Amino acid sequence: MIVDLFTFGKSPFEFDVTIPKEEIELESDDAKLTTDAQIKGKISKRITQVDVDGDISAKVKTECSRCLQPIEKEFEIPFGVSFVTPENYTEEKEAEINEKDLQVSIFEGDKIDLSEIVREQILLNLPTQVFCKDDCKGLCLKCGANRNLTRCNCEENEIDPRWSALKNLK
Ligand SMILES: [Zn+2]
Ligand SMILES: [Zn+2]
Repeated sequence: MIVDLFTFGKSPFEFDVTIPKEEIELESDDAKLTTDAQIKGKISKRITQVDVDGDISAKVKTECSRCLQPIEKEFEIPFGVSFVTPENYTEEKEAEINEKDLQVSIFEGDKIDLSEIVREQILLNLPTQVFCKDDCKGLCLKCGANRNLTRCNCEENEIDPRWSALKNLK
């Protein structure tokens, strides 16, 4: 979803759009959008930059880091990005923008890709570990059983190596 900055006269320009999930490629094997994403906010044209801020909501299917079961996570992401053209970009500019808790993106000065904002923000907000529930027991390291669902007997049969060393002494 590309917004052409020359097609709207007034600033700020408010938008509320749905981005088809097919347009957002997270480039991750274990995270995919399950529904279309919603992005709303406003675009403010300034002299040397364009500010875009608002909220994104999306549902992402991923898997539990412990038991690998699929889980769906809902994201509500407030965001703020400042677009600057390569000519206007300096490190000072970036520092000034970051100070206002906004991110900096370089653009050509005429178009803003809302799908790309959604993609980046979801990736930035994807936790490195997600769990299906706080006390997920995960998979048994020996037999691979999902220990939330079944009790395998591996633990009981397991002999502490220190004890087996003692046994050998006898
Ligand atoms: Zn789990
Ligand atoms: Zn087991």
